[in-house]
Amino acid sequence: MSGIVLELPAPVPLIDQEPVWVHSPARIGVGVSFLCPCRKMGLGDHQHRLTVLFLNPLAGAKPLEDDTTLAGNNGGYRWARSGLTFEDLHLSPNVDAASVGCWNGYLHDGQLRLF
Ligand SMILES: [Zn+2]
Repeated sequence: MSGIVLELPAPVPLIDQEPVWVHSPARIGVGVSFLCPCRKMGLGDHQHRLTVLFLNPLAGAKPLEDDTTLAGNNGGYRWARSGLTFEDLHLSPNVDAASVGCWNGYLHDGQLRLF
């Protein structure tokens, strides 16, 4: 049997991408910000951060409301989070920045992977 084998870039540990929790004045851990893995995955030459806001922030806080002035507001969309550390953070669904020529992938168990 013949076929094409696609070799995907190796997963990038979130902890290597300078992750920081995103806080609002009244709520802790409403999201995560990290260096986009696009450079390490050979998708682009620029360096920039991505911010992803959670549906279920840390410490039981409510998610941030849809606010277009927020970094990472993403049209009001919020990601389901599990995990409490950068090493085990897990988001659902995938994070899609392909519309700006960037990474489309997912964060599972602290590892950034290509979709
Ligand atoms: Zn990128």
